[in-house]
Amino acid sequence: MTKLPPVNDTVNGTAPSDAEIVLEAGHGASDKRYRALIEATSQVVWSWSPHGGKNDFERSQKWWEELTGQSIDEQSASGESWLDVVHPDDRTAAAEAWATAISTGARYDSKYRVRGRKNNWRQVRARGVPVCGADGVVTEWIGTLEDVTDQYEHLIERERLLAEAEAERRRLEEVFRNAPSFMAVMRGPQHVFERVNDRYIELIGGRDVVGKPVREALPEIEGQGYLELLDQVYQKGTTHIAADARVRLRNPSAELERVLQFVYQPMFEADGTVSGVIVQGIDLTEKRLAEDQLAQLTAESELRKRVYEAILSNTPDLAYVFSLDHRVTYANETLLKMWGQTWDQAIGKTLLEIGYESWHAEMHSREIEEVKATRRPIRGEVPFNGTFGRRIYDYIFIPVVGANGELEAVAGTTRDVTDRKETEEALRDADRKKDDFLALLAHELRNPLAPIRNGLQVMRLAANDPDAVAKAREMMDRQLSHMVRLIDDLLDVSRITRNKMELRRDELALAEIVSSAVEAAGPAIHDAGHELTVALPTEPVILNADFTRLAQVLSNLLTNSAKYTPRGGKIWLSAERRDDEVAILVKDTGIGIPARALPTIFDMFSQVDRSVERSTGGLGIGLALVKGLVEMHGGSVSAESVEGKGSTFTVRLPVAKPITESLKGGPHPATAHKLSRRILVVDDNHDGAESLAMMLRLLGNEVTTVHDGLNAVVAAGAFRPQVILMDIGLPILNGLDATRQIRREPWGQNMTIIALTGWGQTNDRDLSRDAGCNGHLVKPVSIEDLERLLGKVRDI
Ligand code: ADP
Repeated sequence: MTKLPPVNDTVNGTAPSDAEIVLEAGHGASDKRYRALIEATSQVVWSWSPHGGKNDFERSQKWWEELTGQSIDEQSASGESWLDVVHPDDRTAAAEAWATAISTGARYDSKYRVRGRKNNWRQVRARGVPVCGADGVVTEWIGTLEDVTDQYEHLIERERLLAEAEAERRRLEEVFRNAPSFMAVMRGPQHVFERVNDRYIELIGGRDVVGKPVREALPEIEGQGYLELLDQVYQKGTTHIAADARVRLRNPSAELERVLQFVYQPMFEADGTVSGVIVQGIDLTEKRLAEDQLAQLTAESELRKRVYEAILSNTPDLAYVFSLDHRVTYANETLLKMWGQTWDQAIGKTLLEIGYESWHAEMHSREIEEVKATRRPIRGEVPFNGTFGRRIYDYIFIPVVGANGELEAVAGTTRDVTDRKETEEALRDADRKKDDFLALLAHELRNPLAPIRNGLQVMRLAANDPDAVAKAREMMDRQLSHMVRLIDDLLDVSRITRNKMELRRDELALAEIVSSAVEAAGPAIHDAGHELTVALPTEPVILNADFTRLAQVLSNLLTNSAKYTPRGGKIWLSAERRDDEVAILVKDTGIGIPARALPTIFDMFSQVDRSVERSTGGLGIGLALVKGLVEMHGGSVSAESVEGKGSTFTVRLPVAKPITESLKGGPHPATAHKLSRRILVVDDNHDGAESLAMMLRLLGNEVTTVHDGLNAVVAAGAFRPQVILMDIGLPILNGLDATRQIRREPWGQNMTIIALTGWGQTNDRDLSRDAGCNGHLVKPVSIEDLERLLGKVRDI
């Protein structure tokens, strides 16, 4: 490195240089002007001899001092070279530039910073030119040192501003690229894509559009109206804002409709002309979809809410919800009605505040706490006095658990079970009655058996004593009739309750029915020493009735009066015509019926609990039968009584239109016909068959018995009976098939075949008629039935 001359050499040299001499000697006038020039300039002017030199320009010295705050002399005295005031960073470059100039003799031009007077750095520009002698040898360097700090700072500022602008541009670029909205810049009337951000590329399905006009880049846009808008914005320089625009875009292969919110914004040049359009917006498709779904969900949940509300408002059950602090947060219509409160009055209140008695409110509070603690439903039953009166409620409290597993509330439903309870109680009562009845039935059926057995013994032991035998027989007959009546009643009641009872209705005179009933009840009335008075309207009253059944009704009432009236009482049977109905009253002076028993007196198995009944017997079904039969006739029955002062039973029946034809038929029952016939009795019950045969024989008939269907056919062929009494349920061949076989034979055509069955239903009758039977008798067959039937056989 070339060693630089010290500053003092430059400004304060000791020996005058050749150049100085040349200038001073050769150019006196010029020198003056030269000095004037130096005086006038604001720059430091320096001279430098190639071998050391001095600067004696006073002005320069002054300016140097102004620049650096030190005189050249001071600097020299402190031993500093010019390089020492140069900024350390610039020192090497400055020294090298000077060394290069010296060694090459080329012009010198260097910039560096020197320490200024205020200890700040000043930017200077040092320039120098070599001055040569006539021989062309460098004799001196003349130069200037210019303080260019101001210029330089300006430059730095410019560069700083440029750098800042660049950084700003990059930031904007970044913002543009990463913006959450889609953006595109289009230039020119053809809207050529100049720049698009990532969102925009996503929107258009990743297509590369930069450099292409919009019509070419996004052909699917054509015809949707947006290109026209774009043209308009470009031409008019107006901004277009589109909200919820539906745009079909290809993405990436399929064309999808997107919901966009965007703005077309014109880009103006400095001169006010439009050079392009910026598109900027957001894709609302997903949001709208989510909104639609939300709206749908909301609508669905609203609907569900309405459905639940409708159900809850219309159920007869009470529904409610308690908050965890026991306040009612929901109560359905029925519950509000039961409380007699409005929604606003009840909601938010505790049960105590709603008006529950404290024991009741506290009980439910404890139960709510229990549900909260156990998270299990609890169930209970409680009576409550609400606007519906005192009712019994069955309730259940259920925990309501939220989505996060937290207990949110306690819900409940309550059902009014009063009716069910009553029904259950009634059923239990009926069941009790039935059990009582069965016990009674067993008892009542056994009662006649003992005297019958005794009678049999008497007949055996006293076979030779016709009086004793006759007495025994009478007694047995009485007991048996009683038993048959009991069983008949039972079967009748059962038929009525199962709706199997059939009436054989005819137009009959009430008087006949009454006379039959009186005849049937006569012995009981007579035996008890009662007095019976019968009073009927003088005009005949015609009823459309089943003779036997209606007679049964009246005889039941008369028998009851006889039974429940102390010996020697009075009984009245009267009838009154009232418009289209007749009221038949059976009145007695008996023990009467306690008021508490009256409402249920016509129920099945209903008996008033008192000792007298036990002695008179009965199953408690007589009045049920009366009621059933009367109602089947389209009538009604009622009872009035004062305990101890007799009873009155009233039967009301519709009256039939009078018929002109006089009443047909003779008195009931039909008169017996004692004619001898050949009769075949078929019954697999040997005793049944034999006893029937005995009875028929005693009536003067010739009787044969067989015990199965096949023998019946054989016997019929051999014996040729005029009448066959044919049981239906028979072994080998049943009664119907046996009848058919007999009817197929020539000799069987004219025989009278009567079916004997346990039940007398239409169906059975139809079956036996179809098989070829002429008639149908229900077991046990009474002697009256037989006589009536045999009487008819003559006419068959
Ligand atoms: P029962 O077989 O017990 O007579 P009913 O059905 O005929 O059965 O009568 C039911 C009950 O009604 C009887 O047990 C009796 O207590 C009472 N009752 C019926 N008729 C009379 C009456 N005329 N006077 C008093 N009590 C009667």
